[in-house]
Amino acid sequence: CGIVGVLGHHEVAPLLVEALKRLEYRGYDSAGIATVNGGKLDRRRAVGKLVNLSDLLVHDPLPGKAGIGHTRWATHGGPVIKNAHPHRAGPVAVVHNGIIENFRELREELAASGYVQESDTDTEAVALLVRRAMDAGATPVEAARETLSRLHGAFALCFLFDGEEDLLIAARKGSPLAIGHGEGEMFVGSDAIALAPMTDRITYLEEGDWAVVTRKGAEIFDAAGRRANRPETRIHLDA
Ligand code: GLU
Repeated sequence: CGIVGVLGHHEVAPLLVEALKRLEYRGYDSAGIATVNGGKLDRRRAVGKLVNLSDLLVHDPLPGKAGIGHTRWATHGGPVIKNAHPHRAGPVAVVHNGIIENFRELREELAASGYVQESDTDTEAVALLVRRAMDAGATPVEAARETLSRLHGAFALCFLFDGEEDLLIAARKGSPLAIGHGEGEMFVGSDAIALAPMTDRITYLEEGDWAVVTRKGAEIFDAAGRRANRPETRIHLDA
């Protein structure tokens, strides 16, 4: 029930886990992170408490300076490893809070075109839509935009791509999402509290917004695809 993303200068796995800890108050049943390192996308997931994910990372570290993380409160599919986020399909990993209401139709359509789900979640349809679009030649940004236009429901999403160490795509529809600004670093989080140790400069996405985030900053678009200017605010929280 929490999302984080970091494009950093340093190893992001510890930052992601720390940020997820700050979202623990929302409740969760499993957790996971994905990073891109040397161009390669990889992930680690664990059921239960965040300490299980931390333990896993001790034995099986996940290097990389770009990454996403998730705490899951299962809505579709039991709280088991294969349903934990990030969900991966080929070149994309996605973390998702909320519900994709039309996932059954999407799942059938995807299966009919040869893209078959491995998990029981509504989320994996999102990853497969991106993969299918990229297989057909779309760039990550095009694939994300096309995918977002197909989704019904209330959700927050963050995408990370194989071969892209300076790119996150975040989207908000019905679930809050904050973009954090650092010094040549950028962050995404379900709320500003998650990002408080890293930055107090926050831009909140508005309903229907999606953002292309690089270390240089965030380009924000509204639901109609127009460039949107959203204010950067300084938040005051006890980190
Ligand atoms: N609906 C998704 C799932 O069940 C996301 C749940 C959440 O918000 O954590 O995997």
